[in-house]
Amino acid sequence: MRVVGLSVSPGVAWGPAALMLQRHPVMRFGIAASGVEREVGRLDQARQTSATQLRAIHARVSQRAGADLASLFEAQVLMLDDDLLVPRARRIVESDRVNAEWALDRAFDEFCAVFAEVGDEYLRERRGDVADVVGRLRRNLLPEAAGGIRAIAGLITPVVLVADELAPSIAAQIDPALVLGLALETGSRTHHSAILARSLGLPAVARAQAVTHQIRPGVLVLVDGDAGEVVIDPDPDVIERARARRDRRSASVGVSAARAAGPVATADGVPVRFQANIERLEEIDGARAAGAEGIGLFRSEFLLGGRVIEAFDEEAQFRVYRDLVERMAPHPVTIRTFDIDESQIAGGGAGEPGDLVRAGETGPSRGPLGLRAIRLSLGHRRAFETQLRALARAGRHGAVRVLLPLVSSVDELREAKAALRSATREMDEAAPGAPAMPVGIMIEVPSAALTVDLLAAEADFFSIGTNDLIQFCLAVDRTDGRVAGLFDPLHPAILRVIRDVIRLARPRRRPVALCGEMAADPGALVLLLGLGVTEFSMSPAAIPEARELVRQVSMRDARRAALRAVRLPTSRDIAALLAARFPALATWPAGRDGRPHMEGQS
Ligand code: PEP
Ligand code: MG
Repeated sequence: MRVVGLSVSPGVAWGPAALMLQRHPVMRFGIAASGVEREVGRLDQARQTSATQLRAIHARVSQRAGADLASLFEAQVLMLDDDLLVPRARRIVESDRVNAEWALDRAFDEFCAVFAEVGDEYLRERRGDVADVVGRLRRNLLPEAAGGIRAIAGLITPVVLVADELAPSIAAQIDPALVLGLALETGSRTHHSAILARSLGLPAVARAQAVTHQIRPGVLVLVDGDAGEVVIDPDPDVIERARARRDRRSASVGVSAARAAGPVATADGVPVRFQANIERLEEIDGARAAGAEGIGLFRSEFLLGGRVIEAFDEEAQFRVYRDLVERMAPHPVTIRTFDIDESQIAGGGAGEPGDLVRAGETGPSRGPLGLRAIRLSLGHRRAFETQLRALARAGRHGAVRVLLPLVSSVDELREAKAALRSATREMDEAAPGAPAMPVGIMIEVPSAALTVDLLAAEADFFSIGTNDLIQFCLAVDRTDGRVAGLFDPLHPAILRVIRDVIRLARPRRRPVALCGEMAADPGALVLLLGLGVTEFSMSPAAIPEARELVRQVSMRDARRAALRAVRLPTSRDIAALLAARFPALATWPAGRDGRPHMEGQS
């Protein structure tokens, strides 16, 4: 059976499924006989923790609201030991060899089936209380490390991960030796989990409807990240064809690498620079091989792997940043300060296990407009200064540039620079006259885009983050599949805002790069060149094709197309313009080896 979704990371992979329901994080997978004791132990531990929490809640509620209301929690303690619940889950682990979470879910399903038969309305309503207890047990089954959920740390053998959604902090824990591919019900190309999948070389399909319902743990699943398909229980010949495709792909990697050598210029000689977006130190070699002349965006938050920032001290950060710089020398490395939300600061995660109301169910959203990125860093000065000091120390070992995410005003930039001065005061006093580390900002908030001339007085460089800039300009949450069709990089507003950023930065001679996913699209790349962007940072895998494309396009043609495009009313018109002027784009990169494809036709 095939489920059609959206390709977010190319390649093909197959293996037994492991399920993760992240909305209430649950992993389901089979275990070996040797794992039974461990899973039973986890169940017992979760039962014990739940009992302690429930007793504490009982005491609190009886003090505040009286014994009657509190008795519910006394009853919940008793439910923990009901033979149909934890003891039953324990027996399922032993007999069916499944992990504790899965066994608990199965025990609960059986329990619900029994209750559905009961005629008594009052008893049927008690099902909600049991669901509450099960929810608590589930949460307590999640091992935590330094505040971060380690939901996928229990995997032992390689699997295809099938999930309803995959938070970046969970994705950051993926060990590519144990996760072969991703089949997700939600997400988009610019969602951080998709970006990480590409950087890990993991085939991934997003928006594959209801896969967590259709796929049972352990069933063979094939993720086709080229076609954007998930195949459930594929026939052997489907696997054989996929295997042949995978082998051909690895053979062609060497060929792309050969094309990656040397500087790049457009067909009429305008130099264009390509740098790499990376999330992990291990990607450096791939970035170099792809022809990257530096790292244009290092997403430092992926180093956290789901931990809280406080758990990653200065020394540990310094070592990673220094290694990055040394391994990329003589090219520069642009390191973005943590772009995280509150879930990755101590005490900012889900509510305390004993709380009646959990974060996420009420309170402010953790959405893109919330407390994240530079806003969060400025509010957590100590952690921010720790990162800045580690960066400055790495700067002594090579060319480091600091990039600030989500800046929306000159005030924020000033405050961040003040934090940098304070963080490095001692270092600066010890080595007066040492060159200052360049500080740049991401242009991803419309207010920053509109005031680049003002920001240019205090920022050393800019990097246009189209993933966020598009979502904020068009008011489209990039993680929400329901409005994904409105996420439109060729929207006239997007082309105009990029044009204006370049224009506003020019008088101050501040370099402007572009590091969003948009540039990986050939048509968009041509327009971006025409709008005046000549410095790009993209995932290493996208660089060889982009370099090749740039060599075939003349800046004159690109400029003329861009001039016309910004005056067209819709992105359909703009796509049609591209198709008419650059017909070879339709088959790019397939048309690469024959015709003089990219000559503009006006
Ligand atoms: C962007 O917003 O375009 C960007 C590169 O940053 P991120 O995708 O990490 O938000
Ligand atoms: Mg961004």
